[in-house]
Amino acid sequence: MGRTSKDKRDVYYRLAKENGWRARSAFKLLQLDEEFHLFQGVTRAVDLCAAPGSWSQVLSQKIGGQGPGRVVAVDLQAMAPLPGVIQIQGDITQLSTAKEIIQHFEGCHADLVVCDGAPDVTGLHDVDEYMQAQLLLAALNIATHVLKPGGCFVAKIFRGRDVTLLYSQLRVFFSSVLCAKPRSSRNSSIEAFAVCRGYDPPEGFVADLTKPLLDHSYDFNQLDGPTRIIVPFVTCGDLSAYDSDRSYPLNLQDGSEYKYTPPTQPPISPPYQEACTLKKKGQLAKETHPQDCPISRVDALSQ
Ligand code: SAM
Repeated sequence: MGRTSKDKRDVYYRLAKENGWRARSAFKLLQLDEEFHLFQGVTRAVDLCAAPGSWSQVLSQKIGGQGPGRVVAVDLQAMAPLPGVIQIQGDITQLSTAKEIIQHFEGCHADLVVCDGAPDVTGLHDVDEYMQAQLLLAALNIATHVLKPGGCFVAKIFRGRDVTLLYSQLRVFFSSVLCAKPRSSRNSSIEAFAVCRGYDPPEGFVADLTKPLLDHSYDFNQLDGPTRIIVPFVTCGDLSAYDSDRSYPLNLQDGSEYKYTPPTQPPISPPYQEACTLKKKGQLAKETHPQDCPISRVDALSQ
């Protein structure tokens, strides 16, 4: 079945068209607001990864405040203009984009930062989850520069194997973090939304764009202040015990003779098994160029 026919059967797709939303995603933000009253008292918001712009539409319609600049929307892709929405075309993982966003908030804060960003999925779950997490962390980094204390951050999250690590990272900055799945988000999709309320960075935390997560700089030694945690390093074992980096003679100093002891649990299919089989048959030879080789490895194995 083609993509179009499937989309036509999707009620949120049809409702979005009927109600003038640019994408069915609008319902995800609306349903998140129904549950968490995200727009209450909000006059300024940032919409990260905003194209084609249905979340920006929702934001510009639902939040108070006057004039342009109430919503700053960012995406890799160009977006058709929307009233009251400042648009930035750029990559949110890049320092230059982050700086451009922050410039719009000189002297004032945002009440709400949302990010519905998703990478182009590869189908390799680990890779997709990792990419999604990096996008979320880049969004979080931007949020730490623009959010007012007590502000709210909502970001798409993939509920993969390592998602608890992300929750812990978010919990460092927000008094409440929970995971929400709006009705309009397909059950078959791994996506959900981290709803982080009560922006409250650790005491002494200074938001710094040169820190990791932007421009793919992953030197975590750059962390300092309350974000840098140094765990104790402990060595154990008697210093006069055998050194694991040294080779020792087979006959140990106490004069005892070396005796072979078979492994307690031999590997079930070790990578050298094939070589052992060939050796037993006298067929193990050094690799040579095919033209020099009288018997190929495949031939030898099939014998
Ligand atoms: N919330 C949007 C709406 O309601 O119309 C839909 C967002 S769509 C699911 C995901 C968007 O993330 C795409 O438009 C894509 O271009 C954007 N995106 C992905 N990676 C990005 C990045 N590194 N920087 C900026 N935008 C990005």
